[in-house]
Amino acid sequence: MRFIVATVCLLFFSCNESIISSRNKSDIPFSIVIHGGAGTILKENMTNELEKAYLNKLEEAIRVGYSLLENGASSQEAVEKSINIMEDSPLFNAGKGAVLNSNSEVELDASFMNGKTLDAGAISGASSIKNPISAAIAVMENSPHVMLSGKGADTFAAIQGLDSVPNSYFITERRLNALKKVKKYKTAYFFKNGLYENLNQLYGTVGCVALDKEGNISAGTSTGGMTNKKWNRIGDAPIIGAGTYANNKSCGVSATGWGEFFIRSVAAHDIANLVEYKKISIKDAARIVIHEKIAVLGGSGGVIAIDSKGNVAMEMNTKGMYRAHMDSKGNFSVKIYSDD
Ligand code: ASP
Repeated sequence: MRFIVATVCLLFFSCNESIISSRNKSDIPFSIVIHGGAGTILKENMTNELEKAYLNKLEEAIRVGYSLLENGASSQEAVEKSINIMEDSPLFNAGKGAVLNSNSEVELDASFMNGKTLDAGAISGASSIKNPISAAIAVMENSPHVMLSGKGADTFAAIQGLDSVPNSYFITERRLNALKKVKKYKTAYFFKNGLYENLNQLYGTVGCVALDKEGNISAGTSTGGMTNKKWNRIGDAPIIGAGTYANNKSCGVSATGWGEFFIRSVAAHDIANLVEYKKISIKDAARIVIHEKIAVLGGSGGVIAIDSKGNVAMEMNTKGMYRAHMDSKGNFSVKIYSDD
């Protein structure tokens, strides 16, 4: 009899404990969203194999960030590690597999912002930094500056002990072919946008926004820019307020698409301002900036964003955007096409 009473008590308490711990867990919202670039991504141009490769890599990246957040890591760490995975994958236009400039070289841009302190770091036009997002974070943490460019960025990253690689490490057959195609059709992207839209390999920037259990938001973006870019062109990705922004008072944002339009629209900061000052939802803010501002100017692309409550937006005016989302409420999605 005593044994039965003891067992029932044990069951009751352990059950109760797991209810309490699961309640505590879900009471603290945390959330993460990633993108792997937006563009004319059509199912009919995709093989099953490639589609699967994208979905698997996106899932790997989001799960790594999510489990860091679940275990109490900062949103900064989750953003860095999720982006590192995509930078190391030749599927995306960041790190290995980045697009080529008009000289068949890779020049990398990245930025990071901490929504609690409003600290930020960025690198642009780098040619030997294996993981540009980590270098952007190092600029933020270990230099008095916000952005370092070109050789200075490469040297700084090496001094910081970050991995340096020869430029050839980044170059893939796929991006060489894309450059050839663009050159053949003489589509320097900023002179003629019609054809640009038809070549989906041109996009593929990566980004991540996360909200951690402490309520801190971080955002980061990493890219090779745009195929056939010239004259040390720098896009929106390393520009705080254009391609990346984070503020605990409003939201975190990472953008992808035709960078010049995101710079002119100060897109990421505009979304944060709409949320902070107009008190509109993150989804509406993202929709306004992508469809009523960027698209009206003639630009294309998308954004991911998370607000201080963990609500998420994944908005695009293109046919697709590689993207994934996971949060403590149990939401999980990995998607490619705009009508997914
Ligand atoms: N926004 C990037 C740039 O203009 C390109 C991209 O997102 O694919 O450099």
